[in-house]
Amino acid sequence: MNHRLAFPAAPALDHLRFSNAFASLPAAFYTKLTPTPLPAPYLVAASTQAAQLIGLAPAAFGNDDFIQTLAGNRGADDSQPLAAVYSGHQFGVWAGQLGDGRAILLGDVAAADGGRLELQLKGAGATPYSRMGDGRAVLRSSIREYLCSEAMAALGIPTSRALAVIGSDQLAMRERPETTAVVTRMAPSFVRFGSFEHWYYNNQPEALKTLADHVIAGFYPELQAAENPYQALLAEVTRRTAHLMAQWQAVGFMHGVMNTDNMSILGLTLDYGPFGFMEAYDPRHICNHTDQQGRYAYNQQPQIGHWNCFALGQALLPLIGSVEATEAALSNYQALYGAKLDELLHAKLGLVSRQADDDKLLDAMFTLMQASHVDFTLFFRRLGNLRLDDVDSDTTLRDLFIDRAAFDAWALQYRTRLKLENSQDGNRKLAMDASNPKYVLRNYLAHTAIEHAQNKDFSEVRKLQQILENPFDEQPQHAQYAELPPDWASGLEVSCSS
Ligand code: AMP
Ligand code: MG
Repeated sequence: MNHRLAFPAAPALDHLRFSNAFASLPAAFYTKLTPTPLPAPYLVAASTQAAQLIGLAPAAFGNDDFIQTLAGNRGADDSQPLAAVYSGHQFGVWAGQLGDGRAILLGDVAAADGGRLELQLKGAGATPYSRMGDGRAVLRSSIREYLCSEAMAALGIPTSRALAVIGSDQLAMRERPETTAVVTRMAPSFVRFGSFEHWYYNNQPEALKTLADHVIAGFYPELQAAENPYQALLAEVTRRTAHLMAQWQAVGFMHGVMNTDNMSILGLTLDYGPFGFMEAYDPRHICNHTDQQGRYAYNQQPQIGHWNCFALGQALLPLIGSVEATEAALSNYQALYGAKLDELLHAKLGLVSRQADDDKLLDAMFTLMQASHVDFTLFFRRLGNLRLDDVDSDTTLRDLFIDRAAFDAWALQYRTRLKLENSQDGNRKLAMDASNPKYVLRNYLAHTAIEHAQNKDFSEVRKLQQILENPFDEQPQHAQYAELPPDWASGLEVSCSS
C-alpha cells in the first residue's frame, strides 16, 4: 500500500499574482522603474517562515526563477516596480527629501492570513532618490537585516520580514570593497512617518490627505468611522509605537538609527542597520558607532519614539485640524509605554500580581546588572532557574555578578516577593522561559556568519536563522549560541555603513 500523499504543487514565485496598491497613488508619490540587474546572482539564504506568509514552499528557493526574480533580473508578472519618495528628520534635524534610494517595491501579493504583503527588493540599484549612493546594499548588511527581521518576528515583535538574500560577486565601495546582495523585504506597507512629513514640509495638503486616506483605507479601515479619522490614526500609531518601544526595551533591542524615515506607520521595526542586542547591561549603551552623541542610545529609545510621534503629529496637524486635537492623540504615549513595559518586565520576572514595591525591586535589579555589566539575555534566562527554597539553584546566575553579596541580598528580596504571590517554581520557570529568550542575534554571531558567507559558505547564516526561529526553546545541541560573547567580540563596531 502506498502511504504517501500526493501534495498539490506548491506555487513557485512566477505564480504569485502581483498588484500594486501603492502605484494607484498619484505619480508624485513615486518613480516607476525596474531594478538594475544583479550579475550572476546566487541564493544566500531564504526564510521558510517568511515564505509561508505568502504561500510559497521552500522547494521554490533553489529555482532559477526565484533567484532571478528576487535579484531584480526578471520582472514578476503584473508587478509595477517603483521607488517611493519620502523625507524625514535624521538625528533630530530636518533632512529634506530622501526616498527609496536603493529599495524597489515590486508590488503586493496575497498573504496566507487573507491580507496582502508588499515585496520590496533592497539593494536593487539606483533610483531618482539615491542622492550620492550607489543603490546597492552589501552582503554584510543584507545578512544582518535578514537575520534580525526573522529573529524579531520569532520573538513576537512587530517587524518587516525578510524572504531571502540573493548575493552577487559584484563589488560596492564602502570602507573597503564588499560584495553586494539584495534582500527581499515584506510588510503590508513600507510607508514611514517621513512619507507624511514629505508632503507637510512641501506644503501639499492635498497629497498629505491622499496618503493618509490610502493608509487608513488599506491598513486601518476601522478608523474610517472615527469622528476625526486623522486624529484616530495618530493616536493608533502613537499606541503602536509606544508598545513597540516597550518590546524593544524588554528584549534589549537597540535600533541604532531611529530617524523618522525609519519609523513605520504600521508600528513595525523597520530599516535594520547598525542595530544591536544589549549584552553587558548599560542603559547608556550606543549600538551605532556613527551616533557619537548617543541620541539613539538604549535608554533614549522610548523618548525618541515619542519625539518621532510628535514629528508625525506635526505633519498630520493640517488634517487633524487643531493643535489641541493633535496633542490629545499624542498624550497617551507615556502611559501606554509605561503600562506595556511594566507588563513585560513583570513577565520577565515571572510575577503575575502587582505590588507597591515592584518598581524598587526592578530598579535595584537594573542597578546591580549595570554595576556588574551583566549580560542582559543570560540574566533573565537564568533567573527562571531560581527555586524558592534552594539557594544552590542561583549558582549560574550569581556567577554573572561581581558583587555576589549584593546579588544575594537582591535574590532574597525577589524570593520574598515571589512567595507573596504564592509563586510555584515549575510554573514560573515555564512562563519565564516563554518571555525570556535563550537565543538572540548577538553581534558576534552575525559577524561570524557574515565572515563565512563572505567566503561563500552560507551554512552558518542558514543555521543561525533556524536557531533564532525558536528563540525561547532550549535547543541543547546549539547551547553555545546562547553563551557570553567571546573576548574578541568586544572590539566589534557597527556603523551606518551598509
Ligand atoms: P538608511 O540610513 O539606510 O535608512 O538610509 C537613509 C537614506 O539613504 C534612504 O533614503 C536610503 O534609501 C538612502 N541610502 C542609503 N544607502 C544608500 C545607497 N547605497 N544607495 C542609495 N541610497 C542609499
Ligand atoms: Mg532608512
